[in-house]
Amino acid sequence: MRKRMTAFCLILGALLASGVTAHAQSQPGPITAIKAGRLIDPETGTVTTNQVILIEGEKISGVGPNLNIPAGATVIDLGKLTVLPGLVDAHTHMAITYKEQPENNYYYLTYVMDSTALRAIQAASNGMQLLNSGFTVIRDVGNNGLYADVALRQAIEQGWLPGPTVIPSGIIIGGTGGQFWPTPEMYKQHNIVFPEYIDANSPDEIVRAIRQNMLFGARTIKLCIDCKPWGYSVDDIKLAITEAAKGGCKVEGHVQTPEGAQRAIDAGIYIIGHGTALTPDHHRQMAAKGIFLAGTDTPFTKYRGTDASFKQVVDKLRDAWEKKVPLTFSTDLDYWNDRMKDEKTGAWLTRGDLTIAFIETWKAARIPPADILRALTINGYKAADIIKERGPIKQGMFADMIAVSGDPLTDIDALRNVQFVMKNGMVFKKDGVMTPEKFFHPGPVRIPSGRWTR
Ligand SMILES: [Zn+2]
Repeated sequence: MRKRMTAFCLILGALLASGVTAHAQSQPGPITAIKAGRLIDPETGTVTTNQVILIEGEKISGVGPNLNIPAGATVIDLGKLTVLPGLVDAHTHMAITYKEQPENNYYYLTYVMDSTALRAIQAASNGMQLLNSGFTVIRDVGNNGLYADVALRQAIEQGWLPGPTVIPSGIIIGGTGGQFWPTPEMYKQHNIVFPEYIDANSPDEIVRAIRQNMLFGARTIKLCIDCKPWGYSVDDIKLAITEAAKGGCKVEGHVQTPEGAQRAIDAGIYIIGHGTALTPDHHRQMAAKGIFLAGTDTPFTKYRGTDASFKQVVDKLRDAWEKKVPLTFSTDLDYWNDRMKDEKTGAWLTRGDLTIAFIETWKAARIPPADILRALTINGYKAADIIKERGPIKQGMFADMIAVSGDPLTDIDALRNVQFVMKNGMVFKKDGVMTPEKFFHPGPVRIPSGRWTR
């Protein structure tokens, strides 16, 4: 038996090694040349005109005004459009949608009634809807059943279907109960908190929970800092940051109290999720320490929120911007109701429409378009910790980009009407219409480079 196992391991090793070699030596892919009428660099908030972007396979091979277009290249003329990097939602939930019917907006019921498998398929649909609206990266921070977020990442990365690059957190880690207040019988006899939350109370349990998430494919770690009065101490959070770093993960803290915010800041957390509990003094400290804010700044609409809570959200966002906190664009979208319709046409809004609609809050906070765009791109890539490989339209980066009519640097609403989307060098949307055929195939499974696990 042992001999057979050894032989199996040798064969598996050889197969894996040959796969890696094949990938490393893979032929350069087809060449595409994009003619961009205008090209935005969101880092500097500047525009250049009449640029050529060369793409070889999945990556950008050159950008400039007078690049030679090689013979045989596919030329895409976006001369009338503004090209810019893809957008980022830095805090969302792809695999949960709680609704008025049948669960009366109570996500306790959603996760009892919707299987992880069903939720994973919903996530796949959400991913395409988001890509259609120009979102090429999302941070998916929990409440995804049993790792549907990781499955979504893998499926997109392996080439089964189009979607944004997903940065999954795996299961949210918290003290007893997570964000739930279950009955004793459901908690003790049915472990009802899992898999929405992992209970981790002691240092040992925190380490174990983080390792479990990373083993199952998390690329970021989400902690409930203060979902319960017992919450996490500064030392607990520091331990989590150190442990997560071993697997290349940064930590986001869900924060809902000023005390929790202070502990997260003192521990040097990477991202604070939700802005509602933050004071001007917290903003000052976050700016000084470079802590990202994923404020999840919900606009007041016919289908969501109140005028009073909106005013509070707007004031907090404005203060964070004035204090120069590194801001990301984030939504916390995990719900749906039948009022989510286009006011003019009465058509259902897609998950992508609903996501980009959050710019209403940023406009109400009188944040300049260039800074909104930076939150939607550069700061998002940094918060997702992928800026070295994705985002900026520069040589060597993955070819993810979008194009819109108009100029988002003067009119941010231009982003609501994305005409063109490219992901990994493949065209997903052109002339305002989804063209995803090339993304669908039963093989070969793409083997992502750089990391040999999930
Ligand atoms: Zn959330």
